[in-house]
Amino acid sequence: MNLYPDTLDGHAQMDAGLAAASCSRCGEARLIRDTISTAFWGRDGLVVIENIPALVCAGCGEEHIADDTAVALDHMRGGGFDLERATRFLEVPVFRFAGTRPE
Ligand SMILES: [Zn+2]
Repeated sequence: MNLYPDTLDGHAQMDAGLAAASCSRCGEARLIRDTISTAFWGRDGLVVIENIPALVCAGCGEEHIADDTAVALDHMRGGGFDLERATRFLEVPVFRFAGTRPE
């Protein structure tokens, strides 16, 4: 997930900057408005934030978010996460790293 420096905040500004924008990773000009999810390790373990506005590269899939969106995510993170306010809970599979040599 990369910051999207050419836009100010949210989807409206992303739309305004869409024509001039290109992917910061591959240079592709087609960036698709979408919502994405991300995960943070917090004090109480892993938390997921979903429904984040983003521009996703049609070429390589790189996710770009606006500066204001990044700041808002930092605020959510800095405030900690009150589990009683969670939208929902996920159960996820966990694996142990298998090592670098196949057996
Ligand atoms: Zn790309």
